[in-house]
Amino acid sequence: MHEFTEGHLFINGSYRQGRGEEATRINPATGEAAETLKYASVQDVDDAVAAAKQAYAAWSRRTPGERSEAMLALAAELDARASVLAELETAQTGKSIRMSTEFDVPGTVDNVSFFAGAARQLHGLAAGEYGAGGTSMIRREPIGVIGSISPWNYPLQMAGWKILPAIAAGNTIVLKPSELTPATSLLFAEAAAAAGIPDGVINIVTGSGLVAGEALVTHPDVAMTSFTGSTAVGRRIMEMAARTAKRVHLELGGKAPFLVFDDADVEAAAHGAVAGSIINGGQDCTAATRAYVQAPLFEQFTARVAELMDAVVVGDPTDPDTDLGSLISHAHRDKVAAFVDRAREAGAKILAGGEAPGGALSAGAFYRPTLVTGAAQDSEIVQDEIFGPVLTALPFESDDEGIALANDTPYGLAASAWTRDLTRSLRASEEIAAGCVWVNDHIPIVSEMPHGGYKASGFGKDMSAYSLEEYTNIKHVMMSRDAAAHKEWQDTVFR
Ligand code: NAD
Repeated sequence: MHEFTEGHLFINGSYRQGRGEEATRINPATGEAAETLKYASVQDVDDAVAAAKQAYAAWSRRTPGERSEAMLALAAELDARASVLAELETAQTGKSIRMSTEFDVPGTVDNVSFFAGAARQLHGLAAGEYGAGGTSMIRREPIGVIGSISPWNYPLQMAGWKILPAIAAGNTIVLKPSELTPATSLLFAEAAAAAGIPDGVINIVTGSGLVAGEALVTHPDVAMTSFTGSTAVGRRIMEMAARTAKRVHLELGGKAPFLVFDDADVEAAAHGAVAGSIINGGQDCTAATRAYVQAPLFEQFTARVAELMDAVVVGDPTDPDTDLGSLISHAHRDKVAAFVDRAREAGAKILAGGEAPGGALSAGAFYRPTLVTGAAQDSEIVQDEIFGPVLTALPFESDDEGIALANDTPYGLAASAWTRDLTRSLRASEEIAAGCVWVNDHIPIVSEMPHGGYKASGFGKDMSAYSLEEYTNIKHVMMSRDAAAHKEWQDTVFR
């Protein structure tokens, strides 16, 4: 246990220790044991759902203004814990402290403020008049208890993306963070309690996917499952959710293309490709993973990307000068390395990286930024999600071919196109099948922006006002001033 949280579950306003299995959390940057985690049992999940169910009656009846006020207080509480949150986020994931301090924590605080405002904007389109003396209206109502499951790559931001729209709309929630990274989700819930968000509105159950995760998805009192994680687990969750016919919201894997047309600013594109592919150690579902470069620029682009990758500072994640910290675990690093090794054996060229750094970093789960050329379009390194700092690059001839290659994986979460040409920009944004297309940029994300996938990347939106729609039911209310006014219509059914 670290010094900031007093248990690995947060249920009904207080910390608790799980009654399930025990596991050791390893610091990925050093390979040393960091803490012993006590996971949630099925009974603990039941307790959390019961707390959320009890809290629902009062929270769902609060006015949007009251919910908004409590959420603004949460933003202040999180801000007051900013340095501890950043430190914990880096300790549990191995990501650079610069990312945690400048991206994860302020991004989450901004997200809280955004949803505090959005809570007051939740309304439906009027359904209009229906005949004489009648009118109808739309009510947007919360759904009930939301069961959410989040991954380890951005633990704090993912907790925010799941919790905030759900509670802004009047739901209550039980979140199961990744068993590798629960600390900042726990602190988030504690900050919410300190902000006056009532007990039971936000509950955290740290535990394994197979025990706590499945118990949450199949729980009959959970009205909706919202999940961020891999496509394989997402499919399983959808199947399980079918048993109780609950609503599902799935944010799954990605394999973002990075399309460079021959009129692009090559220097800007090369910088964008390096930042976009190594962000968070490449453990970002929208990370740039497949560069397709129009033939005349291919050599220049790949040479520059390799040069910039070689200059990336890989090192101790707690050092503010580090660009790239460790990956999430040694097992994950080995998986990333194995993808690159197999590509190399199949004849691909490694223009940068392709290995773990040695020396002082050899005990940690580090991997160098890696550029791979010459891998076939249908090879696993181009098709499968690697989730590491690995970028493949392939040349293309015509615009048609570039767009076809960009679309040629099962995923469709994000993409970017680099060009100065308006027609090409519009064509790429229209024809690439992805939930987000950036033009002349890759990665930026703000609270107002909807985030979600096409194809095997899932469905539903996180962030933005659109995510509130995910967490509400639409109710149509039809009213007639005069109970006999629609007799004529009734007569068509029954005279
Ligand atoms: P994962 O699918 O292995 O695990 C995600 C979560 O699901 C964890 O909390 C895990 O404990 C839980 N889980 C695992 N098996 C389960 C089961 N049978 N029932 C219920 N819960 C279960 O993913 P990960 O390795 O933690 O995260 C990486 C993946 O997340 C990548 O595929 C990445 O693309 C994806 N991701 C997607 C987005 C997005 O917005 N689309 C954002 C971040 C990460």
